[in-house]
Amino acid sequence: MFDMIGNIFKNLGTKPATRCYPLEKREPFKASRGRVKGVEIEKCIFCGICSRKCPADAIRVDRNAKSWEIDPFKCVICGACVEVCPKKCILMDETYTQPSTAKDKLTYIQESKEESQSQAG
Ligand code: SF4
Ligand code: SF4
Repeated sequence: MFDMIGNIFKNLGTKPATRCYPLEKREPFKASRGRVKGVEIEKCIFCGICSRKCPADAIRVDRNAKSWEIDPFKCVICGACVEVCPKKCILMDETYTQPSTAKDKLTYIQESKEESQSQAG
């Protein structure tokens, strides 16, 4: 009984063991991978290697539509896609994924050269 009362008073005077995320963010661990931030779509050659190597089936590459898509809710942050990409165009950073109410995917579409030129001119 006295032990329990002692514990209650001790806990009242200490901070909670968990953080109130996202209001209170933790500094990333040293060498933490963080998350896949996106792709530099202009460098992508749509080889599809990242998609084939992804153990979580999180990446979709469409060569014809020149699109690259990732489902952040499937990604397990293994870094395999980043390692195998021959163009080194997949980006990771150390920030945590923000909480979200929708399971949105990140989609990138490469503009064709003609489109880019006509927009520039
Ligand atoms: S980090 Fe791993 S799980 Fe996430 S997209 Fe890349 S290969 Fe897939
Ligand atoms: S491995 Fe790299 S170049 Fe190939 S489709 Fe994926 S992101 Fe594009």
